[in-house]
Amino acid sequence: MTSRTGRHFLQIPGPTNVPDRILRAIDQPTIDHRGPEFAALAKSVLAGMKRLFRTKGDVAVFPSSGTGAWEAALVNTLSPGDKVLAVETGQFASLWRVMATRLGLEVEIIPTDWRHPADAGAVEARLAADKAHAIKAVMIVQNETSTGVASDVAAIRRAIDRARHPALYLVDAISSLGAMELRQDDWGIDVAIAGSQKGLMLPPGLGFNAISAKALDASRGAKLPRAYWEWQPMIAAAETGFFPFTPATNLLFGLREAMAMLEEEGLERVFARHDRLAAATRRAVAAWGLEPLCADPAAHSSALTAVLLPAGHDADAFRRTVLERFDMSLGAGLGKVAGKVFRIGHLGWLNELMLMGTLAGIEMGLAAAGVPYRKGGVDAAMEHLAGAAGASPARVAAAR
Ligand SMILES: *Cc1c(COP(=O)(O)O)cnc(C)c1O
Repeated sequence: MTSRTGRHFLQIPGPTNVPDRILRAIDQPTIDHRGPEFAALAKSVLAGMKRLFRTKGDVAVFPSSGTGAWEAALVNTLSPGDKVLAVETGQFASLWRVMATRLGLEVEIIPTDWRHPADAGAVEARLAADKAHAIKAVMIVQNETSTGVASDVAAIRRAIDRARHPALYLVDAISSLGAMELRQDDWGIDVAIAGSQKGLMLPPGLGFNAISAKALDASRGAKLPRAYWEWQPMIAAAETGFFPFTPATNLLFGLREAMAMLEEEGLERVFARHDRLAAATRRAVAAWGLEPLCADPAAHSSALTAVLLPAGHDADAFRRTVLERFDMSLGAGLGKVAGKVFRIGHLGWLNELMLMGTLAGIEMGLAAAGVPYRKGGVDAAMEHLAGAAGASPARVAAAR
């Protein structure tokens, strides 16, 4: 490895760049997790997470990756042999389905071409046909991190309601929380699932379940085996600011800081910033003459963009060139789009110039790797960001 100067560009869609403020918040002596200082920390992060999920329900925080939080959502609400309905929007939806099957659930899948979002109409039709209410839960990935396609979680809630179906609504918000709008209570989500290393700007290591009253009720009769992931002792201990086992104390210091940062900026502005940087990225992709994997203009993710390389060009070789030449990590294609796409992460702690550096690295990388493209992507993105449509609302307000 040659020596590097300046910062590495970590432009994968998670883990994301950890802000200096959060690094400093984590860099503290670990405290007694049964002492009063910890209780104040736990109460403050739990209250903050409820504001972030926009819920009045309980939030469970596990020392785990997002995958652990997936498992927690399933084992707390369902019983062996239960039927669940899932939409395979991409690799993450597919992995979650595999997990559900291994846990002993019977998964019925609505396929997609991995280029379109979950179709609310198809969910409604399937639920309406399930007169006996055999389906116990609907599993949806809000932001499919493998494809850059976002599904309309509110529209799927309305579809469940139109079918008058009592299924629980389980939503993977692992790469959307803190980057794209999520309203747990308004959208009738029974379990919203998140992780620390994407929109929350933390290192990996925390998994979250935000739990509706209906989901909590279901957990009382749910019979899938569970021990570590059991919600009830978590919720009981949280009343007093404690955990039933050793929490990831230092990550919780970081979480408190992340919450402060998101609330100082204001969630609406955080989402608008993600929308703006994503739109600039798409301008660049279009100017290069490349195609985003997302084929539905209404479903573009604001957290990442997956880009198809022209046939015959290996996306992993392109990513290797970018890493070697410009010290930037881009996301790999996963599952059935491996080698065909690369993914640009533009979520978390990011601003216009970090994005422009990212896009410049890609444009130089396309040339260096011999991928056919048109020049001008960086210019198109700059034009967008400098123009009124791309201007930061904070700056616009200050300039008035
Ligand atoms: C990252 C991610 C996961 C998996 O989370 P891990 O922290 O890697 O276990 C699941 N779903 C989505 C949508 C993700 O982005």
